[in-house]
Amino acid sequence: MQFPAVQQVCVLGSTGSIGVSTLDVLARHPEQYSVYALTARERVAELAQQCRRFTPRYAVVLDEGRAAELRRELSESGVATEVLCGVAGLCQVASDARVDVVMAAIVGAAGLRPTLAAVKAGKKVLLANKESLVMAGPLFMAALTESGAQLLPIDSEHNAIFQCLPYPCDSLEAAGVEKILLTGSGGPFRNREVEELENVTPDEACAHPNWSMGRKISVDSATMMNKGLEFIEACYLFHASPQDIDIVVHPQSIIHSMVQYRDGSLLAQMGNPDMRTPIAHALAFPERIDSGVPALDLIAQGRLDFEAPDETRFPSLRLAREAIITGGSAPTVLNAANEVAVAAFLDGQLAFTAIPLIIEDVMNSAEVVELTGLDVVELADREARNLAEEALQRLRKAGAGSGETPELRSM
Ligand code: NAD
Ligand code: MG
Repeated sequence: MQFPAVQQVCVLGSTGSIGVSTLDVLARHPEQYSVYALTARERVAELAQQCRRFTPRYAVVLDEGRAAELRRELSESGVATEVLCGVAGLCQVASDARVDVVMAAIVGAAGLRPTLAAVKAGKKVLLANKESLVMAGPLFMAALTESGAQLLPIDSEHNAIFQCLPYPCDSLEAAGVEKILLTGSGGPFRNREVEELENVTPDEACAHPNWSMGRKISVDSATMMNKGLEFIEACYLFHASPQDIDIVVHPQSIIHSMVQYRDGSLLAQMGNPDMRTPIAHALAFPERIDSGVPALDLIAQGRLDFEAPDETRFPSLRLAREAIITGGSAPTVLNAANEVAVAAFLDGQLAFTAIPLIIEDVMNSAEVVELTGLDVVELADREARNLAEEALQRLRKAGAGSGETPELRSM
C-alpha cells in the first residue's frame, strides 16, 4: 500500500491562540503533516521553543533585531531552522513551492499580504484571519478564482456553515438555502447593565464566557464587532447577500451556526467550543481526523438557548451591515477603524462604549472607493487609521475618552 505524501504546513501566527491550537492538532498526526514554517511577531522565546519541537525549515519574525535574537537561541540548541523577517519573509514562506497548506492565523490587517500570497500561490488556505477577507473581500475572492486555491474557513461559525452546505456550493439559491443563521454567544456583556459598559476594563472584556482567544478578537466579541466582521466574512465566503444572513444569539456556543433550507430543514453543526475542531476539519477535509476535542455531552449540557441580538447595546452589528451594503472600501474602513479603536481600548486610552463611536465617525468621514488593487486597499486602510487616530485625539481633548462623547458626534 502506498502512503500519501506528508503535507507540508506553514503556520502564520504560530504563537497565537489559533497557532498554538493548530500545532496541537498537527502534533497528533506526524505521519500526515510536517511543519514547514512558523511565524510570530515578537514572542521570540516561544517561537524558539516551537522550532525546537517541530524543527521547521523556516521561522519568520517581525524585524532583523528579533531575527538575530532567534538565530542566537536556535544555534545554541543546534536547530537548523533558517530565520527570515518582515512581510517579505512572511510572503515567501506562505507561497513557498514546498508548502501544501497555509494556516492564516495572524491577527488583523497585518495578515493580508501573506494570506493573499498563499491564495495567489494556489495553496490550501485555512482562513482564521478574517480581517484580511473583510478588508479586501473582492480582491481576495478574485485571486482565489484565478489561482484555484482552496479556501477553508477556520472561524467556528463559518466552518459550521461550510459543514452544513453541500460542497462545492457556488449558489445558495441553487442549493435550496433560505437563510444562513450565524450564531454568536453575545460575549461577556450580553446581560451587563448598559450604564456599566462605559467603565468595563480590558481584562473584563477579554474574559469570554466560552472561548479562550487572543485579546483583539476577545474585545471584538465583547463589542460584537466580531459578529459584524463575521457577517461580512460570510457574505464573501458563501456568495451571500446581507439579506441571506440572520444573526442569532446563542449563549452556550454549542451550535456554531446553522443553515436553513427551503424544505424546512435546519442543519446545525455542534461541538464543544474548542478551535481544534474546525482546525482539524479544515486540515483533513474531506476526511476526518482526531482533534483532541472531547465529544459533546448533550445530557450534561442540558439546554440550548437562543435570542435576538440587541443592536442598541451592540451598534457594531449595524455598522458592519451598513459597511457590506455600501461595499467598495467601506468594510476596509470599518476594519481599520475598529483595529485602532480596539488597540486604544486595550491600551487604557478609550472607553469601551466609545469603540463603535470612533468607528462610526470614521465611516462617516472616509471616502468610499472601489477596491481595484492591493494598493487601493492599503491606502484606504491607512487613511481610515489616520482618521481614527484624529478622532481619538479629538475625543481625548474633549474629555479623556469618556464614553458620552457628544463632542465626537458633532464633529
Ligand atoms: P493572537 O493575538 O492570539 O495571535 C496572533 C498571532 O499573529 C501571533 O502569533 C502574533 O505573533 C502574530 N502577529 C500579530 N501581529 C503581527 C504582525 N504585525 N505581523 C506578523 N505577525 C503578527 O490572535 P488569535 O486569537 O490567534 O487570532 C488570530 C486570527 O484568528 C484573528 O484574525 C482572529 O480573528 C481569528 N480567529 C481567532 C479565533 C480564536 O479562537 N482565537 C477564532 C476565530 C478566528
Ligand atoms: Mg468566530
